[in-house]
Amino acid sequence: SEDITNDLPPVRWIRINPLKCHPNGDTEPVLAELRKKFTLKVNKWSDLVPGSIYYDEYIPNLFGIHPTDKITAHELYKHGKIIIQDRASCFPAHILHPGADDIVIDACSAPGNKTTHTASYICSGPPKDNIIRIYAFEKDPERAKILQKMVKVAGCSSNIDVKVGDFTKLATPDKCKGATGFIVDPSCSGSGIFGRKFFDSLNKRKMDEKDDDNDVIPDEQEEFMAKEELQTRLAKLSSFQFQMVKHAMSFPAAKKIVYSTCSIHAEENERVVIDLLLDKAVQEWGWKVAPRTEVIPSWPRRGKVEEFGEVFRDGTAHNPRQLAEGCIRALPKEDGGIGFFAVCFERK
Ligand code: SAM
Repeated sequence: SEDITNDLPPVRWIRINPLKCHPNGDTEPVLAELRKKFTLKVNKWSDLVPGSIYYDEYIPNLFGIHPTDKITAHELYKHGKIIIQDRASCFPAHILHPGADDIVIDACSAPGNKTTHTASYICSGPPKDNIIRIYAFEKDPERAKILQKMVKVAGCSSNIDVKVGDFTKLATPDKCKGATGFIVDPSCSGSGIFGRKFFDSLNKRKMDEKDDDNDVIPDEQEEFMAKEELQTRLAKLSSFQFQMVKHAMSFPAAKKIVYSTCSIHAEENERVVIDLLLDKAVQEWGWKVAPRTEVIPSWPRRGKVEEFGEVFRDGTAHNPRQLAEGCIRALPKEDGGIGFFAVCFERK
């Protein structure tokens, strides 16, 4: 059998789902239940040992456990009261931080981690009405089925309208009236992902039980790819990612858009931000990169200033340092999970 020890992730991240915490979203009883299994509280995720728990400092209701601790057989997991989701993958909904008055479009939703996490900010507890607050687009019909299932398990199907199809063609301001916020988490190279083989072997999970939130898995092969081949692939991906964000930016009522990838390549991250900032229509629509103060300011690893510096100069409307500060990066393993990038565009 295959050696999966190199694939061992440092932490398994779980979040308590307030949408399943009756009657008003109070997560304490679920945490008390969790603490029966994870009795030792540690102060750093790097100190995790089997049976211990770490309370994350960046994302509310998020906890780290040791990767060898089984959790998928737990009743809390089966009932959607806890959801397995990498810490960095929780950043977008936390940055968007929608409230009860917002209507959100998740442009690329399956399997639904960010969709259901976003719902937990809008509803804050079990949904009390049937008003649609999130339009969740997913192009792939098979993945859309998994999304539907996750939305149901997470207890927010009455507030989420799943739409199967291409976001750039199907989503119009008319069909999704008054959309104020967007999560745009499109397909990417997935070069920040690892740990799949480990968890699959641990849990022998079926396709629909997987918590991974990426749709491309060819990354182990990247190292064997010729440089030109990789560049061509990244160019294709970044032009697709640009189109996805630009379409979101065209919605007249939109105020905030969080763009993210689980890629470590600047081509899919800072370079996409640069292309958007240079685009005439985007400039006319008034979009700017939100400052660090609005994008998890205490997270230390920010965007790559040298990428912005190649195009923009200090003292201009696009200050490379400020742009980089507005972005978040996470390194695979070193930062406790997958490699990740997030940025927030806003207009006042
Ligand atoms: N946000 C998801 C989560 O947190 O669970 C993960 C999204 S995954 C990185 C990207 C998804 O976008 C895939 O499921 C893919 O099928 C979908 N997708 C790709 N192109 C799309 C498009 N044009 N419109 C809608 N969905 C698309």
